[in-house]
Amino acid sequence: MNPENFTKLNSGFAGQGNRRNRQDVFKEFDATELYCPKCKRAVPVRKRLLLVLPEGDKYEYLCSICLEPVGSKLDKQKQATTLII
Ligand SMILES: [Zn+2]
Repeated sequence: MNPENFTKLNSGFAGQGNRRNRQDVFKEFDATELYCPKCKRAVPVRKRLLLVLPEGDKYEYLCSICLEPVGSKLDKQKQATTLII
């Protein structure tokens, strides 16, 4: 196997993965406004996925102007565990 070929292929794949991942993280723009201590006013926020926990997804809210973290939230998505049988 040609090592040069392998490197090219590998880095191309990683680049694609990174781009898609970043898009996923920042695709949601909440209409929510939160108070930002840096901007000293209510600002539109960006929702960013921080952690995926068994009890739900943990999101962090960033000020869309200065990117300061202004809050976090646990999104409980328990649709898979419907108990109606
Ligand atoms: Zn701010």
